[in-house]
Amino acid sequence: LYVDHPLGEGQSVPLSREEAHYLFGVMRLPVGAVLSLINSADGEWDAEVVEASKKGGVLVCRAQTRPLQMPPDLWLLFAPIRKERTAFIVEKAVEMGVSRICPVQTDFTQNADRLRPEKLQAHAIEAAEQCGGTFVPKVDQLVKLKPFLANMPDDRQLMFCDEGLVGDAAKLPQIVGPWAILIGPEGGFSEAERAQLHAMQNAHSVSLGPRILRADTAAVAALTVWQQALGD
Ligand code: SAM
Repeated sequence: LYVDHPLGEGQSVPLSREEAHYLFGVMRLPVGAVLSLINSADGEWDAEVVEASKKGGVLVCRAQTRPLQMPPDLWLLFAPIRKERTAFIVEKAVEMGVSRICPVQTDFTQNADRLRPEKLQAHAIEAAEQCGGTFVPKVDQLVKLKPFLANMPDDRQLMFCDEGLVGDAAKLPQIVGPWAILIGPEGGFSEAERAQLHAMQNAHSVSLGPRILRADTAAVAALTVWQQALGD
């Protein structure tokens, strides 16, 4: 279970009404039951139920079962697409290992007003719990691509995935350090965005092959290419 609370030896963890409903109402855990907690900072802990009611409850941390395993310093920047496909991108990014998830509004992004970062954050938590991770990347609020790129520190490399690059120098350079991956929307990037990206010294155009991939497929392919070349 992911909790927004410090974890440590003997640490009490109060439960919200929703958490108590899930643990004691749905899962029917009794006082004395032990469950695993993570919080993205303190690793994984076994915690014992010491108080349980419909309205709340308290867990106490007993022992750390795994240390915090940080993913690589890799941000995923992507233009939101349809709801289920955006949720898929978030889920796969967590499974593959990223440190931050940044939905960006590009010139051709549609459905941006329907983006619900809180729902996507819940998907990220579920994905981390499901794949046994001890870290949940933060899902940012939607930001505009151009100022985001303009403010991105120069020492962060950007893997800029663009179709139609086959034959060009379109491979990932082996630069160790902070990275970001950028995936465009269904309509691709505008020429103005391409010009901005090509002018950035730390942006590297990368091809994901000769076919045009759907944005959600492209996100998974890009994460695979990056992890293969530079991940751990
Ligand atoms: N502009 C295209 C069009 O409307 O035909 C399609 C864009 S594609 C569906 C969405 C995003 O996936 C692109 O902006 C790019 O970031 C990424 N992408 C898809 N295929 C790719 C490829 N072969 N190489 C690199 N990136 C790709």
